[in-house]
Amino acid sequence: MHTDTDTDMLTIGAFAKACRLSPKALRLYDELDLLRPARVDPDTGYRYYAPAQLEQARLVAWLRRLGMPLAGIRQVCALRPAAAAREIRAYWARVEAETAVRRDLAAFLVDHLSAPRKDTTTMLELRYAAHSDPGRVRTANQDTAYAGARLLAVADGYGPSGAPASSAAVAALKSLDTAELPAGGLLNLLEDAVQGATRAVRDAAAGDEAAGTTLTALLWTGAQLALVHIGDSRAYLLRDGELFLITHDHTVVQAMLDEGRLTAEEATTHPQRSLLLKALDGGTPPVPDLRLHDPRPGDRYLLCSDGLTGVVPEERIRALLAGTPAPDDTVRALIAAANDAGGPDNISCAVADVRRAAA
Ligand code: MG
Repeated sequence: MHTDTDTDMLTIGAFAKACRLSPKALRLYDELDLLRPARVDPDTGYRYYAPAQLEQARLVAWLRRLGMPLAGIRQVCALRPAAAAREIRAYWARVEAETAVRRDLAAFLVDHLSAPRKDTTTMLELRYAAHSDPGRVRTANQDTAYAGARLLAVADGYGPSGAPASSAAVAALKSLDTAELPAGGLLNLLEDAVQGATRAVRDAAAGDEAAGTTLTALLWTGAQLALVHIGDSRAYLLRDGELFLITHDHTVVQAMLDEGRLTAEEATTHPQRSLLLKALDGGTPPVPDLRLHDPRPGDRYLLCSDGLTGVVPEERIRALLAGTPAPDDTVRALIAAANDAGGPDNISCAVADVRRAAA
């Protein structure tokens, strides 16, 4: 028996034609629970759709085209337009963030595979210094800074076991400072380094689940500098008097900036500006940002914790890097600048100059 409303119902063929999708696609959406027919004839099994479902059928088709997973499509379809719009925007921001990570990884691999062989480059060496200071407000220093002939590292620990976490992460990398590159090569080495640092942080934090650390490190391979970065410590390059930020903060606030939901000015005073999206917390090793740099004689690299960048403007950092030739003096001057600005956090700096090796 048919009710009055059934007279408006469309067969699957008519509905498919009206929404310009194939009956096959509609049957699939039904099976996937994305778009159920308004009625299924119990005798024949024929599917009938209401004209009001046309809009949703188109939406499902577009969302599938967008690459949204089925669960996400179901969720969006159940929402009112404004909430659905928010959900789609959030989905796309996640896609872009994941793509950015993959893009950087692709660039790293391209650089790695097209790297010049060591013997064809000018022999270069590093001149370096590092220091960590508690600042003016905190009683404890949870930062760790290190500089050696092959390795520079800065780690900013947090949580009750923040100090042992940051020092364990850096200690786990220190063997890289003396050892020649092993036979497995650079990719293997960096993977092992992050895994090793993760294990070290887990042991050091000893069950303190609130503890973890950032880690930003530069490894000299003999021909290139490999950058490993997790968290909101930073690396800068001073080249020809210009300062370049070469890391991307893994913070909630930076993600909001990237999505255009926050201005740069709002970001500097945001109450959650230190909330990390990624850190070494002893759990699953995070995927670090990896980058290879071709150093030039005269380049100066700075690694620092947010105790510096949180209070000292980049122009001042640039001026201090450009104006103090000896790395030791530079590190001291940078830390003094942060303390002059109140020193609200621990401050760590590691500076390395790239020079032609003495014959
Ligand atoms: Mg800090």
